[in-house]
Amino acid sequence: MTSQRARDRLIERLRGEGIRDERVLTAMRQVPRHLFIDEALASRAYEDTALPIGKSQTISQPWVVARMTEALLGAGPEQPVPKRVLEIGTGSGYQAAVLSLLVDEVHTVERIDELLRVARKRFRTLGFANIRTRHDDGRAGWAEHAPFDAIIVTAAGAMVEPALLAQLKPDGVLVAPVGGSTSQELQRWRNNGQGWQPETLGSVVFVPLLPGVA
Ligand code: SAH
Repeated sequence: MTSQRARDRLIERLRGEGIRDERVLTAMRQVPRHLFIDEALASRAYEDTALPIGKSQTISQPWVVARMTEALLGAGPEQPVPKRVLEIGTGSGYQAAVLSLLVDEVHTVERIDELLRVARKRFRTLGFANIRTRHDDGRAGWAEHAPFDAIIVTAAGAMVEPALLAQLKPDGVLVAPVGGSTSQELQRWRNNGQGWQPETLGSVVFVPLLPGVA
């Protein structure tokens, strides 16, 4: 249930569901998702579903991780891969781990200390050495390490925080779920020279982006 074969089956399923970027599929084939959730749920790790990680939070559905990562990497292999990426909402650490195989540096911010401690331990144990973590309200970004080539928000807000757009490079990209508590749309923001513009990539469901730290 937690074997490489189970993971390979998930990758084939993602491919069947429209994930085309081989870089993303290859990275997801390498990250052991069962080690990012509680042992009691490990047998379900390679189902294409979100799962609880405690503190009322979830590890995102693999298809959503794949879609967001694909959106972040850009239109195709001809486009340069982002070097420095900021993630808001570390959660289990799974999305950060997938990104860490594709970009130079991942910076990830989580508001719940207990989740962040567990995620940090996973990064250490599994050898994901290019991930830096911070316990904070990620709505303010991570100014000390800005500007970023890409920002990924993995919790849903009513709007995209201007503070995050301000920490992007001019040719950067931000991917975020935007909307209310029951459904949101996935947006990709880019600067067309006149300002930051969103593009809609379909509907998703995320836990809410919350204020403050815990
Ligand atoms: N990327 C995660 C998904 C986690 S769910 C993964 O791969 O597992 C969303 C996470 O966002 C939760 O852990 C939640 O605590 C966190 N979060 C919500 N609001 C936040 C905020 N303002 N700043 C930082 N993290 C936040």
